[in-house]
Amino acid sequence: MKIYKAAIIGLGPSGLAVNKILYGDSSKEIIAFESEDINKRNNIFGFWLTDWMKPFEKIIEKKWYKWTIGNKDIEVMHTSLDKPYCVTSFKTWKKFCLETKNKLEIINKQVVRYFPEQNYFKIITIDDKIYYAENIYDSRSAKEKKGELLQHFFGINITVADNTFNEDNLTLMHFTEENNVLHFMYILPFSHNKALVESTVFSKDVFPSSWYREKINDYLKKNNITNFKEESSEKGVIPMFFAEEKRSVNSNIFNIGIRGGACKTSTGYAFSFLIKQIQLLKNSKNNHVNIHNFLERKMDKVFINFLKNNREDGRSFIKLASNLNGDEFQSFMMGESSLLTKLKIINSMPKLPFIKELFK
Ligand SMILES: Cc1cc2nc3c(=O)[nH]c(=O)nc-3n(C[C@H](O)[C@H](O)[C@H](O)COP(=O)(O)OP(=O)(O)OC[C@H]3O[C@@H](n4cnc5c(N)ncnc54)[C@H](O)[C@@H]3O)c2cc1C
Repeated sequence: MKIYKAAIIGLGPSGLAVNKILYGDSSKEIIAFESEDINKRNNIFGFWLTDWMKPFEKIIEKKWYKWTIGNKDIEVMHTSLDKPYCVTSFKTWKKFCLETKNKLEIINKQVVRYFPEQNYFKIITIDDKIYYAENIYDSRSAKEKKGELLQHFFGINITVADNTFNEDNLTLMHFTEENNVLHFMYILPFSHNKALVESTVFSKDVFPSSWYREKINDYLKKNNITNFKEESSEKGVIPMFFAEEKRSVNSNIFNIGIRGGACKTSTGYAFSFLIKQIQLLKNSKNNHVNIHNFLERKMDKVFINFLKNNREDGRSFIKLASNLNGDEFQSFMMGESSLLTKLKIINSMPKLPFIKELFK
């Protein structure tokens, strides 16, 4: 009977990070289970270049020092020379995390359950096979929950005529007016003729791909882009509720990624936070680390409740952006804002609805 040092359940970004950051430099034998074909997965992950992401600069595929937030009437431009907005892709992250010294065995099967037995875990896969490991890193998570807000999106990578895009300017949020839902376009110009154009919605229900496609086409048309070649697409659903599993009483079970509370609920950003989570776990004796502090979580909760109970068309986001400079904005998005920035944020929000949500 072979007992692995650790079993990783799910080879999304957090499972991959466990292999690289926790075991990559060792000669330990690790087993990972993944129910999907991760070679078919690719998507872009965006984040601001915080200090904890600096060791990963070599995986960055593009940086932008300027980004805009606006709607048809107003556009706020932010600049940060110190902490630019960066992107990498799932494929790049996967390659980076699988290039390690340790031995990783990947089993392309779904785990149905695991439980402790003596001083290791028994792991059962869908075909009733049994595997053994000393530690469990579990990244399975609920993406949807009835009645809760979701961030859902669909985007296409396009090639267009030369010099169509200004590759120095990223459109972080361009809000459009919709009935009953908050919608914005997210444009990543990788070069003068290539971009990811994404339609994103905050609402309780996910839409068919045709809905987002219509918004993408409208946006492109308004920007006089009628001739484009679609190279690939990406779509996703990110919980805008606290999707964190309870900390396990068994100190050898580690909940990681979104399951371990990595997602910043109010924004859907999770990639750099899940890396921070695994870095913190490396230096911790506990099986759980807090990535978002109490005040940040409280503000996220009030904000989410405000979005759930009020019709928001993006103006609050634009007002918030206009009251902050680029460095302050990125510090808020990455959970590193100072008290002064937090006060500026609170001051930007519609007072009465926020006070109501605070006392709920
Ligand atoms: C298309 C897309 C774009 C995103 N863009 C950004 C971004 O720009 N910036 C950002 O910060 N965040 C972004 N996110 C949010 C977040 O970073 C991702 O959701 C990220 O994938 C979360 O990683 P994870 O490891 O927690 O979970 P997952 O990526 O969901 O990984 C879990 C893995 O476990 C597998 N699995 C589930 N159940 C089992 C089982 N029983 N047995 C075996 N395997 C199982 C799944 O197939 C999956 O591969 C994006 C998300 C998506 C989907």
